[in-house]
Amino acid sequence: MFMLMRPVRLLIGGVACALGFGAAEAAVQHIRHEYVELHMGVAVRLVLYVSEDGAARVAARAVYDRIAELEDKMSDYRPESEVRRLPSCGAAPLAASAELYTVLARALDLAARTDGAFDPTVGPYVALWRDARRTGRLPSRDALDSAAARVGWRKVRLNPATRAVCLEAPGMRLDLGGIAKGYILDQALAELRRHGVTRALLEAGGDILVGDAPPGEPGWRIAVPGAGPALAARAAALANAAVATSGDTEQFVVIDGVRYSHIVDPRTGLGLTNRLQSAVVAPDGITADGLATALTVLGEERAAPLLQAFPGVAADIRRLTLPATLSPRGRL
Ligand code: ADP
Ligand code: MG
Repeated sequence: MFMLMRPVRLLIGGVACALGFGAAEAAVQHIRHEYVELHMGVAVRLVLYVSEDGAARVAARAVYDRIAELEDKMSDYRPESEVRRLPSCGAAPLAASAELYTVLARALDLAARTDGAFDPTVGPYVALWRDARRTGRLPSRDALDSAAARVGWRKVRLNPATRAVCLEAPGMRLDLGGIAKGYILDQALAELRRHGVTRALLEAGGDILVGDAPPGEPGWRIAVPGAGPALAARAAALANAAVATSGDTEQFVVIDGVRYSHIVDPRTGLGLTNRLQSAVVAPDGITADGLATALTVLGEERAAPLLQAFPGVAADIRRLTLPATLSPRGRL
């Protein structure tokens, strides 16, 4: 997961620097600080308001360290990561870290709710998609069949009492790329709060999480391209909430004129060709990120009943009708 660089898709509305504000807080000068570091294969941006310069730097350092620590657990790109070293069910049981267990449990819950449209075990299909992007050829029937034997969310066993996790089929490979970024942002905001910073925005590859509003503002102004009026209105003054988007605008391969998204349809093993884009506003990052990915696989009709189970979530799904080779930004 996480490896490709891509441009930020969400535009963050401008907020003036170094604001003084309201009578009660007039004595406090909040200074805006911005930081960027590369993690999870994307630029991770922080915007903080704090009264002291040193406090911001210390908090930002702690956040990036925490992100790196979580990436070590959850990245399927790193052979040494915890998620790549989960034991098979025949081996001695092993307790997962609390963080990995939490993400796996949420991912499997989403898999159950979406009847497997969202499936964190699609790693073998994603590996075939990466091959296809490199070679320009679709995987063979044999390769797809072999991968299918190693995919299936019901083949992951979790024991909530011991936090033991095991994989039932040999050669399975989990991929948390559709949900872990949101969780990692949640943990990063928690780290900021531990440092006393509550007015903050975190952004990673198009996923955004915000804490309290900037001084004197009702919320953070987030522009979500293509959002409908209800979602756009919420995102225009957002506090203590997350925004995630998903779709094939950045990562795709075109073969024989058909555009295959990096999100795979677990029923076929191939990248989605439905051209759906989704945007979600949710109370936290893990919910927004996971749902955004799930919605692009489910499509509008199957999305409605799923969303009823998530109060406080606003979501939009739309279909792009551009030619397969053109992204909305006009890049090839
Ligand atoms: P991005 O990471 O580009 O923001 P998403 O959050 O939608 O986009 O996640 C896409 C990633 O999710 C893929 O790169 C892959 O790691 C993973 N994935 C692909 N197909 C599925 C699926 N059907 N269910 C769950 N995760 C998926
Ligand atoms: Mg996602």
